[in-house]
Amino acid sequence: MKQPVRVRFAPSPTGSLHLGGIRSALFNWLYSRKSGGRLVLRIEDTDRERYVPEAVNQIQESLAWLGLEPDEGGKAGGQFGPYAQSERLPLYKTAAEKLVADGWLYPCWCSSERLTQLRQAAQANHTAFKYDRYCLKHPQDKGGPHVLRFKVPDEPATVRWDDAVKGMLEFQTKEQDDFVAVKSDGYPTYNFANVVDDHAMQISHVLRAEEFIPSTPKHILLYQAYGWETPVFAHLPQVLGSDKSKLSKRHGAKSVLEYRDEGYLPEAVINFLAGLGWNAGEGSTKEIYTREELTNAFSLERVQSSPAVFDPERLNWLNGVYIRSLPLDRLAEACAGFWPAVAAKAKADHKKAVLALVQERLKYLAELPELTRFFFTDPASLPFDQLKTDPAAAKTYLQASLEGLEAANFTHAELEATLRGLAERLEVKPGALFGVVRVAITGQTAAPGLFETMLVLGREAVLRRLKTARDRLAETAKS
Ligand code: GLU
Repeated sequence: MKQPVRVRFAPSPTGSLHLGGIRSALFNWLYSRKSGGRLVLRIEDTDRERYVPEAVNQIQESLAWLGLEPDEGGKAGGQFGPYAQSERLPLYKTAAEKLVADGWLYPCWCSSERLTQLRQAAQANHTAFKYDRYCLKHPQDKGGPHVLRFKVPDEPATVRWDDAVKGMLEFQTKEQDDFVAVKSDGYPTYNFANVVDDHAMQISHVLRAEEFIPSTPKHILLYQAYGWETPVFAHLPQVLGSDKSKLSKRHGAKSVLEYRDEGYLPEAVINFLAGLGWNAGEGSTKEIYTREELTNAFSLERVQSSPAVFDPERLNWLNGVYIRSLPLDRLAEACAGFWPAVAAKAKADHKKAVLALVQERLKYLAELPELTRFFFTDPASLPFDQLKTDPAAAKTYLQASLEGLEAANFTHAELEATLRGLAERLEVKPGALFGVVRVAITGQTAAPGLFETMLVLGREAVLRRLKTARDRLAETAKS
């Protein structure tokens, strides 16, 4: 019988979870959904020096926000828990004892000074560091703190595996170091705990970042020492910045929760992440996928082996597409926490009317204050100097507009007819007049449609702002 698919997302809580990190979670999630399998969340927290307690919460919050909740190891619990490695120490202890008894692990008391010297010597010789097996060759029982090292065998001479993404990969066994499996504090290392757990949790497919490829021969040697079957390995391509260097903050990459806090929508982020190393195949022009479509389309065969490039503009574009596709009520809900402080007392309907005007231009919800502040408070600065029109002419336009609009009904048609009529009478291009009026009432040179904006602002605010602007221009003209 074919083994049921079980995959895992196994982050180390050493800092905030970034987009590259959660991409692994998404691919595991998609693969588990596609194959009717299960996704396990396992917290790999055995590196106590690098452990960041809040990181565990952040990981869970990030997964929940993106709707990538695991079947096991999350709040749902599951049959192989607990899922934090620090709570599974007895398991690794028993597993290590077995390998000690079988001669695969041996104690090593070498001091860190000695190991540093060996490392420096290797560096000077331009060779990779390999522990010289001093403690294997001089068995002793000194007691006290020591590590357990894995005795890398001579056979097989080559460790190879058929990676589901990268194809056939191989490493020479003799180049492998007798790596540490259990540290002197009694905690297992990543390599050791990872294998013991993947076996114990019956993981069938290991989908993880490419940076773990060099660890995989160690893992395979451990599987072989135990006589366990190895899972399928699928190493996901690196994610690089646009300059092809390792992705970092410099490329605009942020933690998952920062994207949430800036008002990116989960579905846009999911679509973006899916594109970081997966594509539907040549000829597919589809850019936007529902979660279900993505699940159906996903396959490991279509995960690319070459690096993926992180393009923040694409994320903004995708987010804009999702923002524009939201019904106004849903957009209003999503925007609840993003309004400028000056909107605190504004009525829900007014805010919705404002949203309808800016929906088209919003790339992420944290832009809301900048784009909408003038709807709730009179603009502080009026950048007339950014227009081609000189202040004296601008003042004339405003005076005329004020007179015209005082007499007009506030309907779209009448506002438009009034201002167009004025432009004609003043013998200026409508655009020039509208530009001056726009700055006067919004404090910006680019804003939503002028007449729509005037209608949402209302007669009183529009006339007041025109007067203020005219008076300010009059001051400028005097001085
Ligand atoms: N704990 C590793 C990490 O920090 C995961 C390695 C794996 O998936 O095997 O990403």
